Amino acid sequence: MLNLVLFGPPGAGKGTQSQKLIEKYGLIHLSTGDLLRGEISQGTALGLEAKKLMDEGLLVPDAVVIGMISNKLDANKDGKGFIFDGFPRTVAQAEALDALLESKKSAISGMIALEVNDDELERRLLLRGKDSGRPDDANPEVIRKRIHEYNSKTAPVADFYKGQNKFKSINGIGTVDEIFGAICGIIGAWKNK
Ligand code: ADP
Repeated sequence: MLNLVLFGPPGAGKGTQSQKLIEKYGLIHLSTGDLLRGEISQGTALGLEAKKLMDEGLLVPDAVVIGMISNKLDANKDGKGFIFDGFPRTVAQAEALDALLESKKSAISGMIALEVNDDELERRLLLRGKDSGRPDDANPEVIRKRIHEYNSKTAPVADFYKGQNKFKSINGIGTVDEIFGAICGIIGAWKNK
C-alpha cells in the first residue's frame, strides 16, 4: 500500500497534483475539504455545522473530520492506497490517522509538502475564487484567516512526520508537470526501499 499525505497551505496545488497521482498510481483520493463540501451540498446536519466555520476560514472540529476519514477507510479496504489531501490538519488528526491505519495493519508511507509563499497563495486563491464558486475563496479576509489557521495549527503537523522520518518537501512554484515530476521522484524512491 502507498499511503501518501499531500501537505501544504490552501492554494498550494494539492488538489491538482492529487488528480494526476490518482491516475498514475491508482490511489483513492480522500480530501476532507471535498467530503465537507459534499455534506454541505446534501444539506446534512454535519454540513450545516461545518459550513459556518468554513465560510469564516476556520477549521472544523477534529472529531468531525476524523469520523469522516474513518468511514472512508472502512469503505475502501482493498485499494492500492490513499492520498490524504487537506488531512491531517492538526497534530491530533495526525495521531488519530496513525491509530486508524495501525488498526488496519497499515501505515503512512510519507508526507510530501508543497512550499508556496503567502503572497502567491493569496493571489492563486483569489483567482480560483473567480470561478470556483467557493465562498471561502472570494474574500481576502477569509483567505488570510485560512493561511493563519494553517501557520498556527497545521504547520506543526510537518514536525510530526519529520519525527518519524517521513517528511519531504518540494518547491510548489513551477509548472504543474514540473511539480508532478518532483513528487513522482520521491514516491519512486519510497517504492524502491
Ligand atoms: P484549502 O486547503 O484550499 O483551504 P480545503 O478544501 O482543503 O481547501 O478546505 C476547505 C475548508 O474545509 C477549510 O478551510 C476548513 O474549514 C475545512 N477543512 C477541510 N479539511 C479539514 C480538516 N482536516 N480539519 C479541519 N477543517 C478542515
